[in-house]
Amino acid sequence: MIRTAIVAALHNELASVLALMPDEHKKAVAGRDFWVGHLHGHGVVAVLSGIGKVAAATTATLLIERFGVQRIVFTGVAGGLGDGVRVGDVVVAEALLQHDMDASPIFPRHEVPGYGRSRFGTDHSLTEQVACAVTDVLKDAGGFLSRETRAAFDLQTPHLHRGLVLSGDRFVSTATECAALQCELPDALAVEMEGAAFAQVCHDFGVPMAVVRTISDRADDAAHVDFPRFLREVASQYSAAILDRLFRAY
Ligand code: SAH
Repeated sequence: MIRTAIVAALHNELASVLALMPDEHKKAVAGRDFWVGHLHGHGVVAVLSGIGKVAAATTATLLIERFGVQRIVFTGVAGGLGDGVRVGDVVVAEALLQHDMDASPIFPRHEVPGYGRSRFGTDHSLTEQVACAVTDVLKDAGGFLSRETRAAFDLQTPHLHRGLVLSGDRFVSTATECAALQCELPDALAVEMEGAAFAQVCHDFGVPMAVVRTISDRADDAAHVDFPRFLREVASQYSAAILDRLFRAY
């Protein structure tokens, strides 16, 4: 049986994943709790990645080397960068890039030394499956969110976007920083703090991976406002619904 890792970035998201697992048991390694069990009959290991690229890389390596996972699905939230990428939309990564990697002028800006590249692609078929699950969930997005929640975050009809996601060890929360990233990497859809580290480790081990992120903010001066409430009321519901569809479908 294929063993899949489900990685959440924050507590609320993990809690909603664990609620879908009937038989999970905990194994603690390196200060992390790995929850081993099943989701709709498929073998899974669920874990919090920890915030930032180093925590993410350690978690990815442990999942592959200690827990023998054969594929990884990362679910979390991110700041929207792309035109029309709004709060409540969902982004599925086709590629990931570390926006704070800069060994210039020895290497081109953003290139990871030793790899000859700045962008790491996600797995095509796993990404397609995740995108299908998201499309299904978004059709019914109003359905599982309360009217108050939708009003509080001014959630319109949510959309799925697919493309480039940026990661770096920084919560991007000023209009200035956000504009600089948009100018430097105009095709970037969203910014977060872990995905590209997972992509690099998965590249090293040849493990297929996918990243799905609900947009929690626009990475601008208002990025920190209501962030915890968004996680609790919106993002964790999305993660659970997307994973439920994904594991039901395959
Ligand atoms: N205060 C938060 C932590 C914020 S870190 C807490 O309650 O713990 C933000 C997390 O969300 C990271 O895991 C990152 O991947 C993602 N994220 C959301 N919006 C982001 C933004 N604008 N910039 C960078 N990361 C963002």
